[in-house]
Amino acid sequence: MKANVARERMKLRKGDRVRVLKGKDVGKEGEVTRVLSDSNRVIVDGVNVAKKHQRQTRATMQAGIIDKDMPVDASNVAILCDKCGPTRIGYRFDAGGKKIRTCKKCGEDL
Ligand SMILES: [Zn+2]
Repeated sequence: MKANVARERMKLRKGDRVRVLKGKDVGKEGEVTRVLSDSNRVIVDGVNVAKKHQRQTRATMQAGIIDKDMPVDASNVAILCDKCGPTRIGYRFDAGGKKIRTCKKCGEDL
């Protein structure tokens, strides 16, 4: 069965700076390193880090614990505006009809 996740289109992009609004990492900020638009989730650098125990293999030569960033729901993070901080994304169209993301609070381009 195909999951119905058409509620909202992904607005975040790789490289966006975001702040976490919900979950164990509330208040943390980081850069979006991956966008998983199918599941409406993003991976944010340093957020929702899971400690993975790694067994020693021939390839790694070393056993230990590695940090892995796990996906967070896109609705649980807010993009950061240089002026207002966490905000919502709006859109405008430039002269050429190109869609540009804007801050819903101050109207600046994001
Ligand atoms: Zn703003």
